[in-house]
Amino acid sequence: MSRIQKPLRMTRQRQVIVEEMKKTAYHPTADEVYEMARKRLPRVSLGTIYRNLEVLASEGVIRKVETEGSQKRFDGNPEPHYHIRCSKCGALEDVRVQWMPPLEDFLKDSQGYEIRGWRLEFVGLCPLCRKKDSSRNGEPESPELVKPECIQKEEDRA
Ligand SMILES: [Zn+2]
Ligand SMILES: [Zn+2]
Repeated sequence: MSRIQKPLRMTRQRQVIVEEMKKTAYHPTADEVYEMARKRLPRVSLGTIYRNLEVLASEGVIRKVETEGSQKRFDGNPEPHYHIRCSKCGALEDVRVQWMPPLEDFLKDSQGYEIRGWRLEFVGLCPLCRKKDSSRNGEPESPELVKPECIQKEEDRA
């Protein structure tokens, strides 16, 4: 990043917010950050949390997550990375693949646009929802699905 940053004043509130956010891989909303921070800052208000989240995000200490619908979420991981969202329960996780910056460079100045931002979000079913899904849709491993001849052949070979 080439942006010159003046040092951000790390108040106790901001410190607590950042610390709490680093503890979780989950991407909390302002309300959820408030709930986490309140345990350590009993007198803090939601408005203060919200303002500090915005300041921290604009300074690049944390990130604001652009995601479909619902509430704005914040990310304790300021490094560029991709997200995957569960289309069923709304869980949002980091994707463990390498960041590909050339994509941005490639689009630069294309079609006369000045690119101000972009969004790439993977959508899927999280492991928990997948489990619930498969247990509802009958038993995929039911004995009827296994052809008896196949088992017979396996035994013959042995
Ligand atoms: Zn899910
Ligand atoms: Zn993230």
